[in-house]
Amino acid sequence: MSLLGPVYDLPTTMAKFVGLGIPLGDVVAMVTSRAAALIGRSDDLGSLAIGREADVSVLRFGTIHRNIFLDIPTLCDPYLRDRTRTGLHYAGQICGVEGYVESIMSAIIVAMSITAASQMREMPPLPKETMIGSLMNYVHTPRKNFQPMNANFGLLPTNGTGGRRSRQTRHEDSANAALGAMESYRRDNAWLFA
Ligand SMILES: Cc1cc2nc3c(=O)[nH]c(=O)nc-3n(C[C@H](O)[C@H](O)[C@H](O)COP(=O)(O)OP(=O)(O)OC[C@H]3O[C@@H](n4cnc5c(N)ncnc54)[C@H](O)[C@@H]3O)c2cc1C
Repeated sequence: MSLLGPVYDLPTTMAKFVGLGIPLGDVVAMVTSRAAALIGRSDDLGSLAIGREADVSVLRFGTIHRNIFLDIPTLCDPYLRDRTRTGLHYAGQICGVEGYVESIMSAIIVAMSITAASQMREMPPLPKETMIGSLMNYVHTPRKNFQPMNANFGLLPTNGTGGRRSRQTRHEDSANAALGAMESYRRDNAWLFA
């Protein structure tokens, strides 16, 4: 259970066993009654029977947030087109983005690149000042432990520069820079939006 990373804690380890398909009741027994029996302490540990010492953890059983994603920098060009299979595009969280809006953004890029291709042209890269441009830049940058990414201000190149500013001011400046960059992009590439 720890071959590819840290064990973290007991609930995480239990969740891994549940994920492997072992019924929850069996997993609970594995870490309570069976563990107590194994060390010869069934008389005082591993059970909630009357008279026993109470040592209780209350856990909420939820859903494991599972996100399957591809090695997009290797597999695709910057417009989410498969490098080897012409006409095959990827969109949604399988591209390494996470969230509703982010998934829609990736589909917009696919739609724009198909529009460009239908006019025998190449879609110019989206400005990095915009969230959609930054997120795609993140997705296309090869990294050792790639993990899916949400839209967030930390991705924007304009967010950390320009002296000491409050968080709100930095975010407003980033939003204005993004709007300006997108407006220029639309103006310079009107054919793509016709
Ligand atoms: C519990 C949970 C909570 C979340 N909360 C939020 C939130 O609050 N805000 C937010 O922005 N994001 C949230 N997300 C993330 C968000 O749901 C996803 O990032 C987003 O839905 C991904 O969209 P998608 O279209 O790429 O994939 P999906 O929405 O997963 O759509 C993929 C579709 O493909 C279908 N499919 C799969 N395999 C096949 C097949 N072989 N043949 C045909 N169809 C197939 C599936 O049934 C599914 O309908 C949450 C995710 C989870 C799991």
